[in-house]
Amino acid sequence: MKWLKFKAAYVEGAWVSPFFIQVDDEGMINATSATSPQGKCEEQDVYLLPGIPNGHSHSFQYVMSGLSERVLPGRTNDDFWFWREQMYKLANHIELDELLSVTTQLYMGMMEQGYTSVTEFHYLHHDHAGKGFARATQVAEVIMEAAQQAGLHLTLVPVYYNQAAPKVPIKPQQKRFYFASPDNYLSFIEQTVAVANANYTDVLVGYGVHSLRAAPLDDIKTILSTPWTKGPAHFHASEQTADVDSFVAAYKVRPIDWLADNVPLSSHHNLVHATHLTPQESKKLVKSGATVVLCPSTEANLGDGIFPIVDYQANGGSWCIGSDSQVNLSPFREMQMPELTQRLLDRKRNVFCNETQLDSGTILYDQALKGGRLAVGLPKTSFAAGSLLEGLRVNPYHDRLLERPLSSVLSIMIYAPETNMIEGVYCKGSVRVSGGRHVGRSGNQEAYMRATKRLMQALATL
Ligand SMILES: [Zn+2]
Repeated sequence: MKWLKFKAAYVEGAWVSPFFIQVDDEGMINATSATSPQGKCEEQDVYLLPGIPNGHSHSFQYVMSGLSERVLPGRTNDDFWFWREQMYKLANHIELDELLSVTTQLYMGMMEQGYTSVTEFHYLHHDHAGKGFARATQVAEVIMEAAQQAGLHLTLVPVYYNQAAPKVPIKPQQKRFYFASPDNYLSFIEQTVAVANANYTDVLVGYGVHSLRAAPLDDIKTILSTPWTKGPAHFHASEQTADVDSFVAAYKVRPIDWLADNVPLSSHHNLVHATHLTPQESKKLVKSGATVVLCPSTEANLGDGIFPIVDYQANGGSWCIGSDSQVNLSPFREMQMPELTQRLLDRKRNVFCNETQLDSGTILYDQALKGGRLAVGLPKTSFAAGSLLEGLRVNPYHDRLLERPLSSVLSIMIYAPETNMIEGVYCKGSVRVSGGRHVGRSGNQEAYMRATKRLMQALATL
């Protein structure tokens, strides 16, 4: 057992300086203190921040970040739906060993940037022909293995996918994702839990539907109303205006209106994007306690639209951030985007601040933590006795942080972020990032190089 002394720590909404944590040899926290304990302390000349939860990730899409920023001759009117066709090509060509090395590499990169947990929204269930693998959970196991190798907390959310669009049957490119019925899917979830319990005890298994687009209403109702005490429920909602239009055309009701009136939504439920919603739908969501997982960089990249956040935030709506398509792995850049987008729209500044909450960065960090913990289904407090040490070691001598007041550190990191501000990361009780670099990088590099080489060759011929 030893005491660590941090220059300062951000603990449950307040800076404490200095801050002392007593840990055992496994990194389990035994006690914390704001006053100097008796005996020797190991001096840690850094600030300590809680690690940030990533509320939404599709790991395989890491390979294609930046590859779809060009148009094809004769096809200059680019949009989300064309991007999706390109994404399907990758989804239908990546092999299991490639998914393992790509996901491991990505998860290590996420940790270097400040994420310590991730919700992996998983729908590549079957082989390329749409047939089950020898073990139905084989792809899910690859994701679990990658998280274990990276030392990142994983909430794995395998999702139900049954149709292409409201009342439109599944397409050939979507057969890897398909489940025939909720029963079929829920038994798959039970099998995934059994695998996690046997071999990956740190993994939390959630559940959900891919989107309000990809399942019939009765199936959505059955799955999202299923009582589930383990992991959280996740689903994409109202990402594109076409999602809303096709839902209204098929069912004569708006998607989030329908959802709030037909599913017992609670803080257990997480809507990814929810970009296009009316003030009435927004109020229903706030009342339900559900969380909206915003993925601002991806939403901008894909041309989704802008989530109307000002009223939602002022009414007390819960939200968090996610890296989604992986075009940006910095949680700090992700956090700045809702505010900066609003500044551009309204020609105002610090739009989330009010008489009692004066610092924008603090508001954003607190919200990303609070909503993010719901989205990943992990403990609600930081640095609590009885939990493994987890947090970001921030360099107080970085040019941008030197001599700045503690009360501005979060805003500096969010509005003027640089990767080398985070010099280390603790996760699950150990140092996983040191000197800004994940300690496991060299072990995965060769496999990652092989995977990207083969995939780039395969994609070039499509
Ligand atoms: Zn997504």
